[in-house]
Amino acid sequence: MKVLKLDHVGIAVEDLEASLAVYEGILGMKLHGTEEVAEQKVKTAFLPLGDTEVELLSTTDPEGPIGKFIAAKGQGVQHLAFRVEDIDAALAELKAKGVRLIDEKPRYGAGGARIAFIHPKATNGVLVELCERKA
Ligand code: ZN
Repeated sequence: MKVLKLDHVGIAVEDLEASLAVYEGILGMKLHGTEEVAEQKVKTAFLPLGDTEVELLSTTDPEGPIGKFIAAKGQGVQHLAFRVEDIDAALAELKAKGVRLIDEKPRYGAGGARIAFIHPKATNGVLVELCERKA
């Protein structure tokens, strides 16, 4: 598989508006857009940063993955997303190597990306998202 770059860093936040006040108002970053991903029970905000992005994630449901993450660990870095050239090939290769996956098939991610998560037990405690984006 070919990892092309760090696509984005996902940060779980309790309050998207309050967090945007920090990232835009204090750090001077610019909001590219927000999107609600119903399947993940999450509202996202993307802030481009050089060749990568910061993704702020707030939950729309305490039982969603971000709600559970914040309940267990509090706010903070939730995942790293690595852009891959071909997510189907990457998942097939990881599966063949016996790597523990959360998603065996790609699903919809914010911005129209195709994404899949590798289990953090397979990556030394870091939740890794694979992300394929077509230009
Ligand atoms: Zn992400």
